[in-house]
Amino acid sequence: MTPASPKILFATSEAHPLIKTGGLADVSGALPAALHALGVDIKILIPGYPAVLTQCPHATLFAQLPNPFAPGRVEILESRMPESTLPVLIVRYDAFFNREGGPYQQVGGDDWLDNVLRFGLLSYVAAWLGSSGNASAWQPDLIHCNDWQTGLAPAYLRFWPGRKPPVIMTIHNLAYQGVFGPESIPLLQLPAESFKMQGLEYYGNLSFLKAGVFYADRITTVSPTYAREIQHETLGFGMQGLLHERRAVLSGILNGIDMQEWDPQRDPHLPHRYSAKQLGNKAKNKAALQQELGLALDAHAPLVAIISRITYQKGSYLALGVMHDLAREGVQFALLGMGETAIELAFANLALEHPDRISVTIGYAEDMSHRIEAGADMFLMPSHYEPCGLNQMYSQRYGTPPIAHATGGLVDTIVNATPTHLASGDATGFLFREMTRPACNEAVRRAVRLYRDPQVWQQLQSAGMQRDFSWQNSALEYLKLYRSLPI
Ligand code: ADP
Repeated sequence: MTPASPKILFATSEAHPLIKTGGLADVSGALPAALHALGVDIKILIPGYPAVLTQCPHATLFAQLPNPFAPGRVEILESRMPESTLPVLIVRYDAFFNREGGPYQQVGGDDWLDNVLRFGLLSYVAAWLGSSGNASAWQPDLIHCNDWQTGLAPAYLRFWPGRKPPVIMTIHNLAYQGVFGPESIPLLQLPAESFKMQGLEYYGNLSFLKAGVFYADRITTVSPTYAREIQHETLGFGMQGLLHERRAVLSGILNGIDMQEWDPQRDPHLPHRYSAKQLGNKAKNKAALQQELGLALDAHAPLVAIISRITYQKGSYLALGVMHDLAREGVQFALLGMGETAIELAFANLALEHPDRISVTIGYAEDMSHRIEAGADMFLMPSHYEPCGLNQMYSQRYGTPPIAHATGGLVDTIVNATPTHLASGDATGFLFREMTRPACNEAVRRAVRLYRDPQVWQQLQSAGMQRDFSWQNSALEYLKLYRSLPI
């Protein structure tokens, strides 16, 4: 062990391409891979769901321990991530993880009734690997936990004797907190003394995430602005008090994007590839998109894209109002998304009213999302809150300036087109502060005015296209954080 290269255990409940339900999987696939590429000795720890076991057919036994919550032994298997040399440790306990259904939910959509023990076990194994109990040749110097499913790991380490590597707790989604009844405390073999406000008690229950936030040595979230916002009631989901108390060890590190997959010069999904130097080809993508979506074939009509889950969080109601108002002013909209049925229907109805100006595609379509990013002129993200957000980074890379609510990662990744930033040439998009329809309308109108000035617009596009949102940047920041911890 050298201080320069700590051994890291990256504990997570999902990682692309093994298993994915959301953004956590993207980060858990990309960040350890970027750290591994930098020469860091890192291993992912993940439950042995069926999809994980089938994709790792040559896994070998790394260690084993008695299951503290159920009969029999837990095997920890070692393998590599698909088409990679990045090591992955798999928590194999078939009665908990090797079953049909999702990682968190049964086939019908209800949570698994034993999630408390399933993710209690994932947390327990993460802690055990760092503890004196692990006699294998590889012991992590540091444990990096992600979201509530691994939140108990620092609590176990606190109460066990012996080796205690530092723990980083990363919050990807504060809305999910892993809350279970107080009767779980003895089942999880946690000491009764842990069940207090200065511990893992959370409004009378046990919260895995609160345990992580309380006992971890460092807390991170996925953007610096979001790290500040969650210390206040509006976006703190009830945890603002503790997060504020721990602000000295709380920071934000931006997620990266896959710069290979999202590259307009090489994107196989596009009818015409382009770069900042050949923006003429972007116009061809616009014409192709208008044709594909049945919009009026009009090179001069500003075309605004929305690709998102259709939910309150993403500001879908606001988007609906803005589309209604601005379609009448000649703006075109291309929406791709799925989510809450009532809002989906409202979007579909609006598209029927303005078939040549509004296109609505309900569904999830990776390839179409690339064509929309390339063919649109602007990208709208009126999110109520956004821990980091990805689409605003994709759209900058595709020369499609984002128009976004000034919240979370959107603030940290978009340079607002103020007169100062326009003058200095580093503006890349548009931010609006008030989460209201007039403010959002005005931001789109502001974008349309600049769009009418090709010189200014091209500068905005090319400043965005030159930004480096690679995972390597994020990985270097995490590495700095790892090295700042006493190991
Ligand atoms: P969140 O993870 O909160 O949904 P992000 O902006 O961080 O939001 O990431 C969402 C990702 O999912 C982006 O890559 C976005 O393009 C993609 N996405 C969302 N909805 C769709 C859809 N209907 N079709 C294709 N891609 C989608």
